[in-house]
Amino acid sequence: MKLYSNEENKRLISLLTTKGREPHSVVITGERGSGRRTLARYLAAALMCEQHRGEPCGSCKSCRMLESGNHPDFITAQANENGNYRLDDIRALVADSVIKPNEGDFKVYLIPDFDRSVNTAAAVQNVLLKFVEEPPAHCVVIMTSVTKEIFLPTIISRVICLGTERCTKHDAEKWLTLRGGFGQDDIIRAVSCCGGNFGRCLEFLEGKELPAAFECAKAVCRGIEAKDEYLILRALFMCDGQKAVLRQALGFLAEILRGACLCSLGIAAEDCCWEKGAAQLAGMLGSARAQALFETVTEYRGRLDANCNQSLTVNSLAGEIFVRL
Ligand SMILES: [Zn+2]
Repeated sequence: MKLYSNEENKRLISLLTTKGREPHSVVITGERGSGRRTLARYLAAALMCEQHRGEPCGSCKSCRMLESGNHPDFITAQANENGNYRLDDIRALVADSVIKPNEGDFKVYLIPDFDRSVNTAAAVQNVLLKFVEEPPAHCVVIMTSVTKEIFLPTIISRVICLGTERCTKHDAEKWLTLRGGFGQDDIIRAVSCCGGNFGRCLEFLEGKELPAAFECAKAVCRGIEAKDEYLILRALFMCDGQKAVLRQALGFLAEILRGACLCSLGIAAEDCCWEKGAAQLAGMLGSARAQALFETVTEYRGRLDANCNQSLTVNSLAGEIFVRL
């Protein structure tokens, strides 16, 4: 059970799995794809490992069952297709928690992507409150979320919070190579675009949306470089009718513009999805204009989230980018 980077988390987990100090309620935060579930599984494995070394040994029966996804005491809650957890399911989970573990000393419940349960988050937490206040000694509940904002004060004040730590591009490359199934050139392309976010790298390699969004963002940058409103508009229309792709494209574009802003201030934009493009734009835009464009693109991304008409948004954005050049 390999956990890349996350040195601080490994240190904390080693302390937390010492007998008598085990946590019962944990919240793991981090952006999507950053390894929140992996960290949750690592913590569960460390707690349930028969060797009790503060980290999963990887070879005992418990570690092997967890690795293969068949541990009877590691239970993952299932949300409905919209990401919302059903109250009945969470009530059943709380009822199940009083039953002793099948194998070792602990039973771990994982409630992933809790922030996606927008409609039922508060009600679910009210169901969980009793569990969090007085958990059975053998139980641990781990919830993952992008941020802590969704949690009620009564819950968040009683949990241990861990945040995923950023992995390096080198780690991502190593992980994808070991995972197999992808060519080295594709891996390098995915990692240079998505950095140390393993989940996004995988999405880039396996899906169509992220590569399409990245191409769109690069085409917009070329339009900016050429100071050509038509090119910018044409680039943005590459995502015509695909709101999710356009949203991702504007995310990449904002990242490149932020990178350009940093570059023009003499700061390396190492985490930028397109370092070369950011460096080129930096020379042309300077920090103030790069910053203004970054803010414009971020604002328009927000408009897409607010369900504005996509064509109108794209037309207006192309115009606004052009007047700022
Ligand atoms: Zn073990």
